Amino acid sequence: MKVEKKTLIFGLIGFGCLLIILPFFWFLISRFEAEKPSIQIKLQSTAIGASQEIPVFVSDLKSGMRKIWIGLLKDGKEAVLFDQRFPFSKQARERKILIKINVAPKKLGMSDGPAILRVVARDYSWRQWWQGNSAYLEKQIMIDTQPPGANVLSRFHYVRQGGAGLVIYRLSEPCQNSGVYVEDDFFPGRAGYFKDDKIFLAFFALAIERVPETKIFLSAVDLAGNRTDASFRYRIKPKRFKRDTVAITDKYLNWKMPELKTEETQEAPLPLIEKFVLANSELRQANFDKVAELGNRSTNDFHWKGAFLRLPKSARTAGFGDYREYRYNGRVVDRQVHLGIDLASIAKSPVPAANHGKVIFTGVLGIFGNTVIIDHGFGLLSMYSHLSRVMVDQQQTVSKGEIIGHTGMTGLAGGDHLHFAMFIHNTFVDPVEWWDAAWIENNIMAKIKAVNSIWQ
Ligand SMILES: [Zn+2]
Repeated sequence: MKVEKKTLIFGLIGFGCLLIILPFFWFLISRFEAEKPSIQIKLQSTAIGASQEIPVFVSDLKSGMRKIWIGLLKDGKEAVLFDQRFPFSKQARERKILIKINVAPKKLGMSDGPAILRVVARDYSWRQWWQGNSAYLEKQIMIDTQPPGANVLSRFHYVRQGGAGLVIYRLSEPCQNSGVYVEDDFFPGRAGYFKDDKIFLAFFALAIERVPETKIFLSAVDLAGNRTDASFRYRIKPKRFKRDTVAITDKYLNWKMPELKTEETQEAPLPLIEKFVLANSELRQANFDKVAELGNRSTNDFHWKGAFLRLPKSARTAGFGDYREYRYNGRVVDRQVHLGIDLASIAKSPVPAANHGKVIFTGVLGIFGNTVIIDHGFGLLSMYSHLSRVMVDQQQTVSKGEIIGHTGMTGLAGGDHLHFAMFIHNTFVDPVEWWDAAWIENNIMAKIKAVNSIWQ
């Protein structure tokens, strides 16, 4: 009995001690945790320009952040970009910190060349003799504060309002982006045509509203974000565009509107003429946006050769840039610009591909009806609309003259015709230039040959 009682007492004391000691041990273990802070540096490019913001993300989920140091090291020199000690508090735990450091190498007295971005972080753990767990992260970077060299190689850039142009240029270093600005319209240049991969072709377009005073220039941004704008000689020929009136009849509306269902026109209990105006403006814009998106997918394969084909034995019934007024019962209900050429032949005429290329779109495209779009490469595309029949598939390669479909009156067409359009990246241009062998020779091929003779 006595022994059992003693055992019981010792047991109780032991249990009491455990109750005190265990939480203490648990506390010590948590204070001595070994998890290092985590560091992430989000660099868009390893090249750092004249002034660049770099986000650094540091977190420590156990003990919380004690100290963060960020520095730039080059040629034995060290510049401190960030150095902060954080107070210990409950909130300090689970601290996730995003630091946006601004790196301006010149202000730090650092010249161009390779450098190291270093981040050191310590937490509030009691390890390392109460110094905490420390984490390092280093990134090799390249300081580059020099703008890229952009040398325009092509000469004599004559462009018509609503027309196209080509600039050939050479860059001194790899760039994240380069091309031609027509005011704020940007036309990216592409390498891959010449053996020298620093030589770029940039086809550009002058939208019909671009007057002769329009500013056109070349622009290049290198991997460090340094930008060069280079000018070149050009002349813009003004062009007068025709005015045209389109009469909308009830017969036309009853025939066309059921086909042109859109979210806006389907739901609303509107008169047909209002549905027409909605389709003619909003659906037209949505269709243009789709075309622009396709234009940006153009590849770096230069498919085409020589003049583009016009629908054989056809008459032009509407021109490029025609300013159209839509009238209903004598009242003007809408105004739009016609950005293609309408060609009428006998009904359901076979339509040839205007030049070699790759089909990148087939299907119904709103107001344009059944449409085929061919990518000729380097941002140049042709478009065939209102077709009654499509005879090619997407991704199919087609040759100049190959039949891609038949004319028709799908979409907003009031009679059988082909709406033929050409565009550069996202801007419609006058197809007449591309039908003209002499224009192509003088404005495109002569420039390419001149560069070839010097640079190949
Ligand atoms: Zn048309």
